[in-house]
Amino acid sequence: MKNIIIGLSGSQCDFDSTEFMKEYVNNHYTDSIEKIGGVPIILPLTENRGVVEKYTGLIDALILTGGDDINPQLFHEESLPEVQVPHLKRDTFDMLLIESALKKNIPILGICRGMQILNVYFGGSLYQDLRYHKDAALKHLQGMNNPDIPVHKVKTLKGSFLGKLFPEDLWVNSFHHQCIKDLGENFVVTARSTDNIIEAVEYIDEDHFILGVQWHPEMMYSYGSEDMKKLFQDFYEQVKIKKLIKERYKISQR
Ligand code: MN
Repeated sequence: MKNIIIGLSGSQCDFDSTEFMKEYVNNHYTDSIEKIGGVPIILPLTENRGVVEKYTGLIDALILTGGDDINPQLFHEESLPEVQVPHLKRDTFDMLLIESALKKNIPILGICRGMQILNVYFGGSLYQDLRYHKDAALKHLQGMNNPDIPVHKVKTLKGSFLGKLFPEDLWVNSFHHQCIKDLGENFVVTARSTDNIIEAVEYIDEDHFILGVQWHPEMMYSYGSEDMKKLFQDFYEQVKIKKLIKERYKISQR
């Protein structure tokens, strides 16, 4: 089999205040993909549907990366005080990526904001801040020091992708102040924190592999977590299987 290429949704920032935007992802993502044997590529932010179609023609899987809050208007709400000023271009880009990846049956792993935008794409909504969730009690927004150190546990759903990987309680890190409220169409909640926050969703059938996690497995794996190594390895196996099926299908179409 040829290389497995995994596209990472990029973001933009003017890090050095030169008024020039830079395209970037945190290096934990590229590091994790390299460690499982894949080839990471960063997909520069664009609002051009044609370019996004080209991107998804290049990749075997898509990882929707973490980042800024999603514009609440996308789930028909006005902004509450805790919400960041939205990055509209990034929302559009992520939505276009999801739309295009779905058409091509490309496996998707959504991480943090990536899970939230998947949920919103499929018609779900978010709590704009954890203070509006009646059960939220644990530390879900840890500091940037030691980002791989887990702060709370999640319980997985038996029989799900995550449930098979992690039948016991799983310790995870946490960098979110928002969480899923109404679930998007077709999704199943497959992990919850002890204080009842939705921490993972799956939409996995014969045609789709879509997994969203609220924590940051790439940070944990990058720093050596064996649990998150398992998560990335299993995701990678799924991507390989999908690629094989697609290649066979192409051969039979000749
Ligand atoms: Mn959390």
